Amino acid sequence: MNQRTATVVIIGGAIIGSFTAFFLRKEGFAGPIKVIERDPTYQYCSTALSASSIRTQFGCPFNIGMSLFGAGMFRDIRQWFGDDADIGFDERGYLLLGTKEGADAMRATALSQIEAGATIDIMTPAQAKARHPWLNIDDIGIATYGAANEGWFDAWALLQLVRREAKKLGVEYVTAEANGIESRNGRVTGVRLADDSVVRCDWCVNAAGPAGGKVASWLDIALPVEPRKRTVFHIKAPVPTEGFPMLFDNSGIWIRPEGDGFIAGIAPEEHRDPHAEGDFEPDHYLFEDIVWPYLAHRVPAMESTRLLRAWAGHYEMNLLDHNGVVGAHDEIGNFLLATGFSGHGVMHAPATGRAVAEWIVHGQYRTIDVSPLGYQRIRKQEPLLESVVY
Ligand SMILES: Cc1cc2nc3c(=O)[nH]c(=O)nc-3n(C[C@H](O)[C@H](O)[C@H](O)COP(=O)(O)OP(=O)(O)OC[C@H]3O[C@@H](n4cnc5c(N)ncnc54)[C@H](O)[C@@H]3O)c2cc1C
Repeated sequence: MNQRTATVVIIGGAIIGSFTAFFLRKEGFAGPIKVIERDPTYQYCSTALSASSIRTQFGCPFNIGMSLFGAGMFRDIRQWFGDDADIGFDERGYLLLGTKEGADAMRATALSQIEAGATIDIMTPAQAKARHPWLNIDDIGIATYGAANEGWFDAWALLQLVRREAKKLGVEYVTAEANGIESRNGRVTGVRLADDSVVRCDWCVNAAGPAGGKVASWLDIALPVEPRKRTVFHIKAPVPTEGFPMLFDNSGIWIRPEGDGFIAGIAPEEHRDPHAEGDFEPDHYLFEDIVWPYLAHRVPAMESTRLLRAWAGHYEMNLLDHNGVVGAHDEIGNFLLATGFSGHGVMHAPATGRAVAEWIVHGQYRTIDVSPLGYQRIRKQEPLLESVVY
């Protein structure tokens, strides 16, 4: 098989599948690239329903590296996608609040982030209050702020740009549902579609997001990635959005400006967080019972918040360790995984697409070494712990 001219089939044509196709061409791949996408409206994909934010405040150095690459691209979006490219990247940091008991550990994590290239301000509660007078600091012991390479953007616009560019580079998007994968002698030979036709391939990439576990199961590969519902609440509150960061409270709630209001959310407790295939109904109880009271505690002016609307999307939850699973399967070497990001897949889509493309074209990772994210750890059941998870 010629590395540069074989056929690649990508299952899933949202942000990760599209960046994989795009970077295959950028890395010099000359053969056919077919992206199988069942829903060209993308209305239920995670990419379209996400909070579209990027942070460098992670525990694992490769996650920081992946974010730095993504942030660089978002800042220079016109250089990548042309003069009309606009994803509204608002480079504003995440403000993470830590408890008094957890302050030392959080400071150590922030110092390691700085060492890995992130730009982080480490603040006392009083310093955080001086920057953000609306903040209640009674029960916090530390605050960290990403002073560069963090913020939010329009993930929908980004998806449209990368698809447009991939198509210009000769990538074919096929509107169809994949429902099986054919293999012989330990190698994938084709992807079966719902009409029973088979798209032959030399490489197959699983970029099916929350359906990633299901797609892997077609090859009898145990991949603990499944859809878990996350609800986003769009609210109006009498607090200025100007200068307001992406706030991550030590209670687990997050909130950031969106237009002249805010969006906010929190993960449900584990026993109320089932496999969610087909369920996109917002969990309204989360707002009434948890988000609002916590918000009113942290930002007292938010006591008089008004809920405008809510929506729910699916995390592609990696139940083992909440990290992405990226790279060639250890036994079926022409089947590559690019899923499982559990809430940080949009920000890491450019780096993931590039990594998968490097692997296919060059047989190795040339920029960021994402081998810790490989399938081996899933087989061995050895979690790769990311300490900064939301
Ligand atoms: C509420 C919420 C907030 C989030 N906030 C953030 C955030 O702030 N920052 C961040 O980086 N990430 C965030 N995420 C996570 C992020 O959205 C995902 O990690 C990312 O979108 C995953 O991209 P993807 O392309 O792998 O998956 P998806 O966008 O879900 O795309 C998968 C595609 O595969 C297609 N597909 C699946 N199965 C098949 C099949 N059998 N045949 C054909 N096509 C198929 C689907 O139709 C879909 O278009 C959030 C997610 C949610 C739900």
